[in-house]
Amino acid sequence: MRLMNAPLISTEDLVFDYPTKRALFDINISIPLGGITALVGPNGAGKTTLINCLVGLHAPVDGRVIFDSQDITASPRAAHKRMGYLPDFYGLYDDLTVRQCLEHGAEMRGIKRRDAEARAATAAARLNVADRLDDKVGSLSRGLTQRAAIARTIIHDPDFLILDEPAAGLDPDARQQLSALFRGLHDDGMTLLVSSHILAELEDYCSDMIIIQGGRVLRHDGASPGTQSRRRIVIELAEPNGNLEAIVTGAAGVAHAEFDGLRATAYLDGGKIVQLTLLKHLVDAGLPVIGFTEIKERLQDTYQRAVGGQADTQADNKESGS
Ligand code: ATP
Repeated sequence: MRLMNAPLISTEDLVFDYPTKRALFDINISIPLGGITALVGPNGAGKTTLINCLVGLHAPVDGRVIFDSQDITASPRAAHKRMGYLPDFYGLYDDLTVRQCLEHGAEMRGIKRRDAEARAATAAARLNVADRLDDKVGSLSRGLTQRAAIARTIIHDPDFLILDEPAAGLDPDARQQLSALFRGLHDDGMTLLVSSHILAELEDYCSDMIIIQGGRVLRHDGASPGTQSRRRIVIELAEPNGNLEAIVTGAAGVAHAEFDGLRATAYLDGGKIVQLTLLKHLVDAGLPVIGFTEIKERLQDTYQRAVGGQADTQADNKESGS
């Protein structure tokens, strides 16, 4: 039996060079089995390059990609049977019907012709395009085309689905529908990696997040306890207390704290136990605590903080040519 949250795919010191530039520097990430991981970063960050390495289309100049405990270069074909990859730019044949596209996709995946029809129907149902099977692809809206393309990507029932910018160009309704479908695929047991600039929807369904910029991982949340984001706790007192600052900053697990009158904001390293220990510490120290609330950071804020905080470093790197 496999453990939940064990990595399905991970990298070890992955480095990738294009002929004229280094695109990935010592990437160490792990994508947990059964999760939905968001891969975010500004244009040119290296998202597509990283995805291409993960799916074995780019051979790294250094480091490794491990898929289900095996170096992907050892048996890429076996790994590909378990992966579905929708690139940021893909082609579907406009003059074929959705059914023909899906059946063609099935045969390209080595599925026997006699089984292709059933596979097409199943994939279309999963992506909610079953009522469009006889429509020509060229007549579909952008949202439906995207769903038909994803149906083709999962025609062989992969357990790892990689989508590069799947929501690009979609209107809010179509993006919402896509988010719901991703949750459905995940509920069926699929592990997903979704690269996107559109953070609002990712927030709805992602369990993990990797932020990259300039070919480096800035932040990797959720995959392992050591990389969890900090908990932000707002503490409110009923009346002023001169010991607030000393008591909060002296508590175990408090990495940083800010103070504003009756209110303190503590940033905690650790989980619920550390949170509970902090509350007990405050009460035992005699503080008149009337509020103790965890504030969840929005993905957009996390992203801005990570990417914004690195802007100077990236500029420095460019100047030094690294
Ligand atoms: P976007 O969000 O714009 O799609 P990205 O995060 O996917 O960007 P990549 O396409 O992986 O970024 O590109 C990473 C870096 O590698 C960029 O600086 C890009 O210009 C460069 N790059 C990409 N493809 C090539 C190539 N074929 N030859 C040389 N450099 C490349």
